[in-house]
Amino acid sequence: MQLNFIGHHAIASLSGRTLPVIDPSDGQPFDEIQRSDARDIDAAVRAARACFDGPWSALSAAERGRLLMALSRLVAEHADELAAMEQRDCGKPTAQARADAAALARYFEFYAGACDKLHGQTLPYQHGYSVLTWREPHGVTGHVIPWNYPMQIFGRSVGGALAAGNCCVVKPSEDACLSLLRVAQLAADVGFPAGCINIVTGHGHEVGDALARHPGVDHISFTGSPRVGTLIQQAAAERHCPVTLELGGKSPQILFADADLDAALPVVINAIVQNAGQTCSAGSRVLIEQAIYDTVLERLGEAFTQLRVGPAALDLDLGPLIRQSQQQRVWDFLSDAQASHIPAVAQGVVVDDAPESGFYQAPVLLADVPATHRLAQEEVFGPVLAAMPFRDEDHAVELANATRFGLVAGVWTQGGARQFRMARRVKSGQVFINHYGAGGGVELPFGGVKSSGHGREKGFEALYGFTTLKTVAVRHG
Ligand code: NAD
Repeated sequence: MQLNFIGHHAIASLSGRTLPVIDPSDGQPFDEIQRSDARDIDAAVRAARACFDGPWSALSAAERGRLLMALSRLVAEHADELAAMEQRDCGKPTAQARADAAALARYFEFYAGACDKLHGQTLPYQHGYSVLTWREPHGVTGHVIPWNYPMQIFGRSVGGALAAGNCCVVKPSEDACLSLLRVAQLAADVGFPAGCINIVTGHGHEVGDALARHPGVDHISFTGSPRVGTLIQQAAAERHCPVTLELGGKSPQILFADADLDAALPVVINAIVQNAGQTCSAGSRVLIEQAIYDTVLERLGEAFTQLRVGPAALDLDLGPLIRQSQQQRVWDFLSDAQASHIPAVAQGVVVDDAPESGFYQAPVLLADVPATHRLAQEEVFGPVLAAMPFRDEDHAVELANATRFGLVAGVWTQGGARQFRMARRVKSGQVFINHYGAGGGVELPFGGVKSSGHGREKGFEALYGFTTLKTVAVRHG
């Protein structure tokens, strides 16, 4: 049985209740986590505050960096163990689970190096004054994490917060906690002080909500659905607590007729099948210039029929979806497509030895999806790619921007001027030209516009969100 991790102690929830941990590859329970409540969150916030007011703030930035670097190395040494945990918990194929463990180590490495590079400025002001700014940590930061990339999202969020000098209380998803509980223990092993990283598991409406409302939490970082993002923001607004929101997307891949299709198509496919399409930045729409529409559909269709889905340990192209309700959600979208006469032009294969009780879904390529249909507008969060033709550059921009989201976009064209025009005109947090980085780029600021959220994580930019700026004006005459 898994326990919460509070102040370096592995402890049961005060309620004594637990939740099962389900293996998505066979739908069977194999472990238990704590079903915590507001009292456990309170204990974790107190532990974090004591650490912040005590040993953590006594460390220099360079010393924080050394601890983060030591953690990065220990995570790398334990990468296989962590990947195996995440694989069973989330149903990730082996290669994906290993990539996630490597990314976790890389986040800690990046933020280790960043700790002592974060500084304020001196500013010109009136005669007789010296004015400077300090970047100060918020204090205790709360982190609500989803199930699709627990290690990666923990790395980027908690890594940045620690580098900036905060202490953290983490609420992982009830569907995927195991790797994070282990990482917190590894952090204790390398010498992070007690209370610096605390993990409390349980349901979102019980534990996540309590974290967002707790008066001792100075900043909330949330990654998850737009619906819950709104709830978190409302709860935090009651006490004017700053919030970073990383929400969903309906990210377009835009293929112009001059695109290098040999380079583009494998990337377009990977961007929707990676993690079985359960990626916030999944390239879930492919916009194709009319002149190459039929060719591209044919080539994508051929590739889709080759894709194999099965148990995570088989390390196929796709593993299962996270849970039965997610599978049902994808089925609902696909029935809607059928009812709307949207053609499913190709589909992958679930292998014969995939257990019936697992949550499998073959990848599906849909053609001619109307721009206003929910399959072109809403996040499926499964391996469903919506293709649609466009006439010219203006039409491509119109379609790309025609959803409530704006997280990532991919533009495939050889035209240099058009590359820059498109990058300017597409409304999203990231634009990749002749590439696509679903979830990638530790160094690259990441986040959305519109309903994809606000604030930035990843890269050095994240450190500004995890700090507050103090202006100090000294009148010395
Ligand atoms: P979710 O919003 O249901 O849950 C995310 C987290 O919030 C979980 O830990 C959950 O327990 C918690 N939660 C649920 N209800 C809550 C409440 N009332 N108060 C506080 N916390 C609560 O999302 P999910 O199903 O876990 O993840 C899928 C969604 O996350 C998708 O929409 C996806 O696009 C988004 N996502 C975004 C990013 C990004 O960086 N933009 C990354 C990954 C996932």
